[in-house]
Amino acid sequence: MESSYILELKTLLGETRVLSEPDELSNYRFDRWVVKHLRNWRGDTVPAPGCVIRPDSTAQVQAAVRFCSERGVKLIPFGLGSGVCGGIEPARDQVLIDMSAMNTVVEIDATNLLAIFEAGVRGIDAEHAVKERGLTIGHWPQSIEISSVGGWVSTRASGQFSSAYGNIEDMIYSLEAVLPNGEIVTLGKGPRAATGPDLRHIFMGAEGTMGIITKVTLSLRKQPEQRACSAYYVATMEDGFEVQRRIIQAGWEPPVMRLYDSSEVARLFADHTYHDQCLLLMVHEGPTERVQAEIDVIARTISELALPASASITEQWLERRNHVPEWADLLQQGLIADTIEVSAKWSEIGSVYTQVVKALESVPYCVNASAHSSHTYRSGINLYFTFACMPPSSDEMEALYFDSWDKAMNATAAAGGSIAHHHGSGRLRRSYLHHDLGNSGLELLRSVKMAIDPKGIMNAGNLLE
Ligand SMILES: Cc1cc2nc3c(=O)[nH]c(=O)nc-3n(C[C@H](O)[C@H](O)[C@H](O)COP(=O)(O)OP(=O)(O)OC[C@H]3O[C@@H](n4cnc5c(N)ncnc54)[C@H](O)[C@@H]3O)c2cc1C
Repeated sequence: MESSYILELKTLLGETRVLSEPDELSNYRFDRWVVKHLRNWRGDTVPAPGCVIRPDSTAQVQAAVRFCSERGVKLIPFGLGSGVCGGIEPARDQVLIDMSAMNTVVEIDATNLLAIFEAGVRGIDAEHAVKERGLTIGHWPQSIEISSVGGWVSTRASGQFSSAYGNIEDMIYSLEAVLPNGEIVTLGKGPRAATGPDLRHIFMGAEGTMGIITKVTLSLRKQPEQRACSAYYVATMEDGFEVQRRIIQAGWEPPVMRLYDSSEVARLFADHTYHDQCLLLMVHEGPTERVQAEIDVIARTISELALPASASITEQWLERRNHVPEWADLLQQGLIADTIEVSAKWSEIGSVYTQVVKALESVPYCVNASAHSSHTYRSGINLYFTFACMPPSSDEMEALYFDSWDKAMNATAAAGGSIAHHHGSGRLRRSYLHHDLGNSGLELLRSVKMAIDPKGIMNAGNLLE
């Protein structure tokens, strides 16, 4: 990065808003994509950005974007860096915009159940702020403590309670963004509108390629009156899918419905294995009478396929649900691992499960290929695969990693599934997007990107080649 640019940015935004020391820049070399952690762990060079700016207002974001646009400098929006698909890949001639200083809860409107957040507000801080008013966002990604509201929108995130409360796109009321040319747009005025295509969606899942989200208004809910748990054993994943289909299509909505295959039951719930069966966990929330009715009717409806298990298993999941191992610890144990989330219609999910597990197991040195489902819809469900390979040498890890992903993506598409449920696409999935979008859909996405960002300055190379 030209040193004159750094000086100019310091003059424009203030000395403290611009980081340029190597040890400061080093913290922004990658997100949580395991490939970058692997390279770093092996001692390979992982480039840092040329400088980092930490704006504290939309006006500062706008000034920075205009500055970069006029000079053709590439920009990378950065929330809290919890992305797992390689959305952050800086180069020395690029500016990274760290949004975490824009962390104000601007307004909580209890009458209309709305809250306005600056984009860098940490998820758990947003939830705590509304909880103090007896409200909830209802969006509980496992990364809630390490991800930002703007990041949620940018990756089309899903929370653990989505089966009743929806995914992030169901909660976004309006958003403010700075376009690549420095213009500010505010999209979303009433609770619903028919004013042409819904332009808010341009930013939902854009992963920093269409502009920088600066403010997000989310629709809230009242804190539920009651929460209760239930759990069941089912003989097979097919039975588990059928049970969930019956529940959701009958109109019941446990916000949490998670079906673990027997391999994951053995790994994650070792004290609760039962004859190699799969495990269905549910959390029920809402008015007390409805919660009790839901539990009773579900028990009756699924009794021929499911055997009641202790509700304490679900309570245990609730307590431990956000604990995950660090990449470095797994690498140290000789494991290269990752998770892959996909989705499919009810009629195809069984085949996606079988084919993807088979595909992952065919990768050399595979020591784990398992799955659970965690997001349920009237017309289908997701699957969240976990794979791990343990090669004799760490030199082989990266190739095995990409081989696993390649096989899982192609097997998902061949079985009729959609290749990305909620982690986004980043650089990891960009060569598989055609499976979902088709070639003409991909061309349409490229045209939209070119129209909004003709100079190609926003997170270049992410999402699209
Ligand atoms: C342990 C763990 C658990 C996870 N669990 C879940 C889960 O349950 N559900 C789920 O959906 N995801 C999950 N993720 C993935 C990740 O947390 C989400 O994708 C999250 O939404 C990213 O938010 P972030 O603020 O960290 O964004 P970052 O990682 O900083 O950025 C993600 C992408 O969005 C862009 N971006 C970020 N902020 C902005 C902005 N203000 N304007 C424009 N572009 C922006 C970036 O350029 C990048 O491309 C998990 C990740 C980890 C490590």
